[in-house]
Amino acid sequence: MESVTSAFPIWHIPLKHARYLNEKQIQILQKDLEIFTIGDLFKHYPFRYEDRSIITEINKIHLGSNYLQVKGEFIKFETLGEGRTKRLIGQFIDQTGTIDVVWFQKIESIQKVIRTKQTYLIYGKLTHFNGRSSFTHPEIENYSASEKRSGQEPIYNSTETLKRFGLDSKGLGKIIEWNLNAFSNEIIEPFSNNKLIQWDLLSLRDALKQIHRPTDDLNLEKAKKRLKVEEVFPLQFYLQKKKKANHEVSEGFYFPKLQSFTEFYNSTLPYQLTNAQKRVLKEIRKDVTSGKQMNRLLQGDVGSGKTIVSFLSMLMAIDNGFQACLMAPTEILSNQHLHSLTPFANATGTSIALLTGSTKTSERKRIAEELKNGTLKILIGTHALIEEKVSFQKLGLSIIDEQHRFGVAQRAKLHSKNEGDLPPHVLVMTATPIPRTLAMSIYGDLDISVIDELPPGRKEITTVHRTESKRLSVFGFIRQQVQEGRQIYIVYPLIEESETMDLNNLMEGFESITRAFPDLYVSMVHGKMKPKDKDFEMARFVKGETQIMVATTVIEVGVNVPNASIMIIENSERFGLTQMHQLRGRVGRGEYQSYCILMTGLKLSKEGKERIETMVLTSNGFEIAEKDLKMRGPGDLLGTKQSGISDLKLTNLSTDGELLEKIKDWVLELIYEDPDLLLPDNQSLKRHLDLKNKDKIQWSKVS
Ligand code: ADP
Ligand code: MG
Repeated sequence: MESVTSAFPIWHIPLKHARYLNEKQIQILQKDLEIFTIGDLFKHYPFRYEDRSIITEINKIHLGSNYLQVKGEFIKFETLGEGRTKRLIGQFIDQTGTIDVVWFQKIESIQKVIRTKQTYLIYGKLTHFNGRSSFTHPEIENYSASEKRSGQEPIYNSTETLKRFGLDSKGLGKIIEWNLNAFSNEIIEPFSNNKLIQWDLLSLRDALKQIHRPTDDLNLEKAKKRLKVEEVFPLQFYLQKKKKANHEVSEGFYFPKLQSFTEFYNSTLPYQLTNAQKRVLKEIRKDVTSGKQMNRLLQGDVGSGKTIVSFLSMLMAIDNGFQACLMAPTEILSNQHLHSLTPFANATGTSIALLTGSTKTSERKRIAEELKNGTLKILIGTHALIEEKVSFQKLGLSIIDEQHRFGVAQRAKLHSKNEGDLPPHVLVMTATPIPRTLAMSIYGDLDISVIDELPPGRKEITTVHRTESKRLSVFGFIRQQVQEGRQIYIVYPLIEESETMDLNNLMEGFESITRAFPDLYVSMVHGKMKPKDKDFEMARFVKGETQIMVATTVIEVGVNVPNASIMIIENSERFGLTQMHQLRGRVGRGEYQSYCILMTGLKLSKEGKERIETMVLTSNGFEIAEKDLKMRGPGDLLGTKQSGISDLKLTNLSTDGELLEKIKDWVLELIYEDPDLLLPDNQSLKRHLDLKNKDKIQWSKVS
């Protein structure tokens, strides 16, 4: 066993090497808590602490008392009742009074260990019955043994099964504490002593010991800080190094010429660009004439006009003899991009094509040829773009729309589309506003541009909350808007666990709508449809052949129907804030006053209510994203599930901003001093990061 354990740091030692655990317990820990290594066990942090330094005097106990601790001794025991009502009652006293302690189970074994004339600490929840208070099955320990205990007693998440096998909160605490001692030497410190002192950090070993058994509040805080650094540092190091490499090493194509760009800009562009759009274009132009490869994230709220920016950027590439591609997450979106860009492409004499999963073989062949010989300049498509054997003659710019829908391995694949040549410039666009701390944590390697201004003349979308009882008047409003020529979206929630139920919901909704509006044409789109059918229905709505679109969230991203003026979100309490904001962005895209109606039942959870109120109060995407991050944590925001951000256990992206900034500074400082971690002082860190890298690089999917 020594040989196995000493070769690896704890994060890599399988749980089966843990001490004091039997096979069954190991199995359940893996299954119930996803604890697979000793390190995972150590990262099973307490979710709260109970202050056990406080001892209550028995005569201070009152009927409102809940959990508390008393100190004293038993003066007598008594068994009462028969069979199921059989119970053991111990009379427990301190200097001030007496209280009963009751056991219904394991009576014999308790009688063997608990005795009179011995001082105990008793901790538990009080039951109050007939004006009398008692403890039932409390925690009991010898007072002398507990003197060493700190005030803060860790409380761990456990499960029913674990409890049955001896691993309740207390059991887990013991196992963790014992193993921390047993494996103390395998807890290898990544940071040098100098850095620990300079950054005022506990050692990893002390931090782990303190978080499980804090000696006092100050040390607990220090332990949390140290372990947050542990969570964030590797990802931040990876991102910042990548950013540095992007900036310094990666040579990029040079696009000095602007010909069709200028012509288009001066004569074809149907509107004045907003200042924000102009600024972003300047930033992009600066990148593509810097000689370095561009890696830029373009954030802009729904409807802020990212598409035209992407087209103008493509012209920069094309004017210099290069090709460009635009990748979107769905067929519908790709189609829409094709539709909105085709007139522009035609006006500039630029060839454009669409490649998706449903592109016909003959068309595919033609596209492949024209890409290879360079006659095709702009290719739009879904991930078919990267997954197939598509290769360009000279790909100068890759644009990715709604990046968070893509894994990042996919983004990397775009880089290899120029065989043996330089990688293309990369522009990643997202309509999901990302709070600064989160952006730093996920997109730390990218430069960020923001379109923070909507095109002029947009009317603020009116958002209201309506309960079921107002449905008739909502229907009346739909009728009125349709009569004025507008179109309506009605969206139903989709929750993965119960897709059938949601589908039923949707079908019912569809039926009630067709019943309520027998004279109108109603489209329906959901995730279970074949892409072809979905596109067909979507296209009918886009062309105005149907007036109402009943859908699940598949329409969330990017679809542009300027004539649509009402977005009704059914069961809106089931939607996340960011998602509702995205949906709301589907309307208000034309000249018409638009409305977002959030339908709910009468009863709402506190959070549900808060989300709805936020939606009604603000239409600022960044405010909404911040709020969402605060309410839910980053797990549900964006595609953070794949990003590794959701693995953060202690770090809170919405409240730890200051620490995150600090960590970023430390990372930059380290990269400045020793970018490749060659100094003797940094060898342990290098091994730590390399191993993390090799093991499960969840966060490598991020960039
Ligand atoms: P998004 O950023 O959500 O992708 P789009 O690019 O689809 O937004 O733009 C939304 C709408 O705004 C489109 O109909 C587009 O033609 C229009 N638009 C974009 N920029 C401007 C502008 N500067 N002035 C007026 N309309 C604009
Ligand atoms: Mg868009």
